[in-house]
Amino acid sequence: MEYRDFGTVIDFEPSALGFGAMRLPTEGDDDTIDRQRAIEMIRTAIDEGVNYVDTAWPYHGGESERVVGEALTDGYREEVSLATKMPSWKLETNDDLEEYFQRQLDRLDTDHVDCYLLHALNRDFWDTYQGLDTFEWLQQKQAEGKIGHVGFSFHDDPDLFEEIVDAYDWDFCQIQYNYLDQEFQAGRAGLEYAAERGLGVIVMEPLRGGTLATDLPEPVREAFEQASSDRSPVEWALQWLWDQPEVSTVLSGMSALDQVRENAALAAQSGVEQFSDDDQRTVERARERFEELMGVDCTGCDYCTPCPTGVEIPRNFDLYNRLEMGDDPEAVLGEYDDMDEQARADACVACGECEPACPQNLEIISLLEETHTQLDAARA
Ligand code: SF4
Ligand code: SF4
Repeated sequence: MEYRDFGTVIDFEPSALGFGAMRLPTEGDDDTIDRQRAIEMIRTAIDEGVNYVDTAWPYHGGESERVVGEALTDGYREEVSLATKMPSWKLETNDDLEEYFQRQLDRLDTDHVDCYLLHALNRDFWDTYQGLDTFEWLQQKQAEGKIGHVGFSFHDDPDLFEEIVDAYDWDFCQIQYNYLDQEFQAGRAGLEYAAERGLGVIVMEPLRGGTLATDLPEPVREAFEQASSDRSPVEWALQWLWDQPEVSTVLSGMSALDQVRENAALAAQSGVEQFSDDDQRTVERARERFEELMGVDCTGCDYCTPCPTGVEIPRNFDLYNRLEMGDDPEAVLGEYDDMDEQARADACVACGECEPACPQNLEIISLLEETHTQLDAARA
């Protein structure tokens, strides 16, 4: 495993690969975690050298924190820096800060969190934190030894990102970044801005919710096939990130043991500035091909769910994108037709509950309408 810099503020060398516990294996059709498989995955990752494990209040309806806590018994807790995040959208009073944090310690079965993040900062949540005694509280928890390092994860525009970076003495931040999202939210400019100020930068969505990993559309596959280096799509996406010295850790939301082993093996071969000019041109070509094809910028993060009506928002967008990216229309339409009626895009009643939760600021209601129209048109 390669170990990297974590900015200049903290003396910690995180593993190139971090374990993101947001897409743990589930059993049945709901979000119930298959605990045995999940624990085996987390422990295998640690055995392979991963020393950064990330979870959050809402992942798997709160079960992720519990399963991570269980996985980190038997001596594993001491092997890792454990990260979780304050549920920003739940906060109303100063007492809420303490209450949610204590509940997280209980769920995680630990007495401290090594890295604590304010979750999914956008303008609204940032205003909330500024209206509370957030920073005094964080400093108090650090003085008590209950929080090690303080950071934030981010989903808004670049100006706000710089404002937040400059507003506090953060140790680190977490941004969405991959070869498709170089100018999205914080983007490449935000990565450099934070790193220049000494913050460690954790990268999330390195494979854009799987879009960059499997079933690449033909034009993107061709872009990679023209390269002089032979790499899998996952390897192209991850090594492109690890090539950049400003990236501290790449969080992968793994959902199977094979992925843990594959990603850990790739992390072991990773390093800064290993990409040739030809490699850089290859990734740029792939990015251009993708951008020509994408319909909806949905990462599949699930923050917008559950929809009270039952619409499976990310699944609908995934089908739309697959159609746009050249997947077999019959297969895509077959999946759409097999969905529960209430889960399909046209079941949306435009209540608006989902849109504020979307970190990509997608206009979900109109995009669902477009999704249904396009899928329907593909029947002709
Ligand atoms: S706007 Fe539509 S998709 Fe969103 S929560 Fe309401 S019914 Fe569900
Ligand atoms: S619509 Fe937005 S919140 Fe919902 S899964 Fe997609 S990116 Fe995430």
